Order: sequence, then structure tokens, then C-alpha cells
Amino acid sequence: MTVPAPAANAATSDVLAGIVKAPLAVAGRDAVPSLLGLTRDRLADTLREAGIEERHLRMRVGQLWHWLYHRGAADFASMSNISKDLRADLAGRFVVGRPELVTEQISVDGTRKWLFRFPSRGAGRPVEVETVYIPEEGRGTLCVSSQVGCSLTCSFCHTGTQTMVRNLTAEEIVAQVVVARERLGDFPQGEKAEGRLPAEGRLVTNVVMMGMGEPLMNYDAVRDAMQIFADGDGLSLSRRRITLSTSGVVPLIPKIGGDTGVMLAISLHAVRDDLRDVLVPINRKYPIAQLLEACRAYPGLSNARRITFEYVMLKGVNDSAQDARELVRLLRGIPAKINLIPFNPWPGSIYECSSWDRIEAFAEIVNRAGYASPIRTPRGRDILAACGQLKSASERLKIGERLALEAMIGSNGDDD
Ligand code: SF4
Repeated sequence: MTVPAPAANAATSDVLAGIVKAPLAVAGRDAVPSLLGLTRDRLADTLREAGIEERHLRMRVGQLWHWLYHRGAADFASMSNISKDLRADLAGRFVVGRPELVTEQISVDGTRKWLFRFPSRGAGRPVEVETVYIPEEGRGTLCVSSQVGCSLTCSFCHTGTQTMVRNLTAEEIVAQVVVARERLGDFPQGEKAEGRLPAEGRLVTNVVMMGMGEPLMNYDAVRDAMQIFADGDGLSLSRRRITLSTSGVVPLIPKIGGDTGVMLAISLHAVRDDLRDVLVPINRKYPIAQLLEACRAYPGLSNARRITFEYVMLKGVNDSAQDARELVRLLRGIPAKINLIPFNPWPGSIYECSSWDRIEAFAEIVNRAGYASPIRTPRGRDILAACGQLKSASERLKIGERLALEAMIGSNGDDD
């Protein structure tokens, strides 16, 4: 899911501390199958097909899993508790799987953005996606993409104007997390990267599926990837620190909750169907009442596991006091948080951002109803949110993007 980030301020042009042009890696082995992104069952099947004896399968899966996800091994040679012969055999058949890292941008405030290039896989040419990392005191959040482009054409969203190219594979979704951890030095034996990072503990503590694309339109790959994120012997992220954001693919909402147990965010943005039909066109198929019914059915919902509702603030469109009151009314009975997102106009967009006074007035109404976090800083980080940060591969990292993500992740994992 992506929605526009808040407008960049005057400091934007100074925010980058560095842009690294990374060498293109792994070229030429695109056709070799990767072991990254396979579920445990599929990894076992793959090893079985490669001739691993049935009685050794469980052990081999465990070993590989440990090296791939706990240790972050980038090749078979480093997997020291696997025999040399087997390592050589595996290396002849498979790759561990790393994307090409095209650029790495590091903001002075610690935010990092990576541009990854993946093989075309039928798309005609290689594809590129962005992954963003936001460090904070005590945690680090990674915003991960699920598709290249998006087919859902939300009218406020820059990604919605881009052609849908293809779904990412589970391998490509998982690789965003693995390479981010690698770049940060977040694996055991990794050397911690320089710059502003959480002082203690793990560097990637939270993952949000809020980059480019609608995750539920790429269900199987996203489900598999999130299960790998949460596997206790691997990347080992708490399910309460993994969030999937959807524009409202209603039939799959309870299903993804049942299959993965992750947290849910909804790109709501309007409280009336006639308006949401325009802002989030999937609403024509699954109107607000159905969407909220699916939210109520989300497995494991409680005050400690609330759904985040994202609401982009569009001047004169959805930002009235009446809209705010209706939002509160609609969400009654649903354990929920609301994230308000100042709109960041992009070239050709027909919307403007609501005034700050309007945003504050709106926030006041939802705050009084107990749905939003208090405003913690003058920057308004607690009333910003959600998707749309990852607008264009060539764009520079903006302070506004950081603010948007910070606020959105402020509600991700707080209840742990
Ligand atoms: S589903 Fe998300 S990424 Fe796709 S157009 Fe809508 S807001 Fe943008």
C-alpha cells in the first residue's frame, strides 16, 4: 500500500548524508533457483528433489534455515556445519538469493532507503523496488514493497498512477528484509553500520507491508514471506511487530489474519462510499460496510491488537468535522487506531493537503474518542501515517517521508 508522504519542508534538500552507488551483484545467475523465500515445506520439497535423503531432510532444512535467516549467510561456503561436498552440491544447484543493490541512501536522521533490482521474471526488463528503514529509540522499522506498481488506481496515490508491472515473489519480499539487516549489520557477527541506529538490541524490530503495491493482491507470496519473517528460528519477528496494510481486499482480510496472525492496517481515507469509490476505487467492489465487517472478523482482535485505520487529509474533500465524527461513529466497537496523513501533492495530483489547523481539529475529534495517539512533537509525528512514501525510484529521500513512516509505525508494535 502506498499513499503520498507529507510535503517535504525546506530542510528536505539537505537531508541526505550519502548516496551510495552499489555495484551490481549476482548478475548472470537469475535463472538459478534460490533457496531464499521458500517456506520450510517447500524448502524440504526442493531438497528432496535435489536428492537429499528423506531421513536427513528435517535436519538439513533446519541447518539451512538457521544459516539463511538467523545468521544471514549470503553463500553456501560459509555454512560451516554442512559438509563440504554438500555445500558444493548445493552451490551447483541453487543460489542463496540476493537482489542487485542499485543505490543506498542514508539520511542525516538515520533513515535509509535502498533501491533493489530484481530479474524481469516475465516483466520484459528487470524491475526495481524501494525499501525504507526508520530507526528510532529502541526500535527500527522496515517498510517493504509487495508489488512493482499497483493495479488499484487510488486517486490520491502516486503509485496508483504507475503501471502494474508484476508481483514480487516471496523470495524478493524476504530478500528486502534480509539485505536490509545485512546492510545494517543486524545479523550475529555482522558489523553494525555507522549512523543513527537503535542503541541496543536488534536493528530491525518491525516490518510493515506498506511499500509499493497492494499486498493482498499478491496473497501467496506475501503470506509466505510474512510467515518467514515470524519464524522463531529465523528472522524471528514478533507477529505483533509485522503489519500488513490493505486498501480493502475484503475476502482476504480475515484469511490473512488466520494464516499469519500479523497486525492489520486499513487504507480507509473516506467515510462515505461515494467518496471512497473515487479515492480508493476497490471500494466499488467492497464498500465500507463490508470492509468494516471484515475488520470486525479479523482474528485475534483486541484492545492490545488493534487495527490501524489510515486516513489521508485532503483539503475540502474528506477533512471536515463531520467527516471526523462519522469516522469515530463508523469505527465504534472495533479495537482501532487512526493515523492521519497530511497529503503530499505529486505532479499531476488533483488534491491539496488540508491546512494544519484542519488536521489538528480533525485529530482533536478522533483523539477525544480515544482513537489516536496524542501529538508528541511540534512536527506532528503522531498524526501522520501510512503508505505512499515510496513514490519513485529516482526520488531523493525526504524528511516528509520519514515523518509519515514514523507516525505510522508509532502504532505498530506499541502494545508489545
Ligand atoms: S492500493 Fe496502495 S499502492 Fe495501490 S494505488 Fe491504492 S494506495 Fe496506492
